[in-house]
Amino acid sequence: MQDPHLIAAEAVNAMAAIDDPALLEEVKARYLGKSGSLTELLKQLGKLDAAERPAAGARINEAKQQVEAALQGRRDAIARRELERRLAAEALDVTLPGRGQGSAGLHPVTRTLARITELFHSIGFDVADGPEIESDHYNFTALNIPANHPARAMHDTFYVGPSDVLRTHTSPMQVRYLETHPCPAKVVVPGRVYRCDSDMTHTPMFHQVEGLWVDEDVSFAGLKGVLVDFMRAFFEQDALRARFRPSFFPFTEPSAEMDIGCVACGGAGCRVCSHTGWLEVLGCGMVHPNVLSPLGIDTERFVGFAFGLGVERLAMLRYGVNDLRLFFENDLRFLAQFREGAR
Ligand SMILES: [Zn+2]
Repeated sequence: MQDPHLIAAEAVNAMAAIDDPALLEEVKARYLGKSGSLTELLKQLGKLDAAERPAAGARINEAKQQVEAALQGRRDAIARRELERRLAAEALDVTLPGRGQGSAGLHPVTRTLARITELFHSIGFDVADGPEIESDHYNFTALNIPANHPARAMHDTFYVGPSDVLRTHTSPMQVRYLETHPCPAKVVVPGRVYRCDSDMTHTPMFHQVEGLWVDEDVSFAGLKGVLVDFMRAFFEQDALRARFRPSFFPFTEPSAEMDIGCVACGGAGCRVCSHTGWLEVLGCGMVHPNVLSPLGIDTERFVGFAFGLGVERLAMLRYGVNDLRLFFENDLRFLAQFREGAR
């Protein structure tokens, strides 16, 4: 009979260098399995003399215990190493500084849109919304800009179909609103407009706010009063100067452009106002009877005024932004300046 202690020593030796749990189980089977060498020795006990059996059995059991102890030691070592590996791989350095929770804010253009509509709403203007894909009819024809009219060329229009365009201004809503609301009507329409134009001072998409007031006693003096009051409230300058210059729009007659005293230099002349002391801020006028009549409005009784202002323009002036493109680049360093608390 083989010496069980020799077999055990061989087994302990074989397991000593094993790191792979599956391999370890294979080695275990070779010694302790059903036909493992120590198990085979136990089977041979019956062939021994009865007197020798107890001692031999005890030696085999001792050897088995040695192998089992070594096996358990290896299993523990492998498990410990695996745990250490995982701890190292999943380690968190709790002393690292946090990533920080940035608070978001409204985009300066959104802020400006809200401020403009709030101010007009506070003096009784309704606030309406209209489609950005507009028919040729509403964008041009209904606004007294018939086909082949030279004013169409001024608009650098994006066509999205034979007779559909991305609206080039918010003025189509003058017509749409009057179609669905009886006179007197008093509304502002904030929204996006589109022109194929892109350079330092133009972007293909920008925002306008259209204003319309149609009533029996509306006058050009009223138009001036409303707009001057609005600009003074918007820029928080009670003594802000304003002037109106004659202009031309097909859908208003007479038409005017409004200038305000430069809000950057107070009129002394600076880069913002090209050293003129004045800033062009909007176009306006009395609604042309050719716009009102087709809507069935009695133009002997009702008169209207309309205006359209550029939102980015006002945002640039109010916040002192000198490059229009900053509004559309989504640079967080720029946008973060308009977080909660800014006005
Ligand atoms: Zn200036």
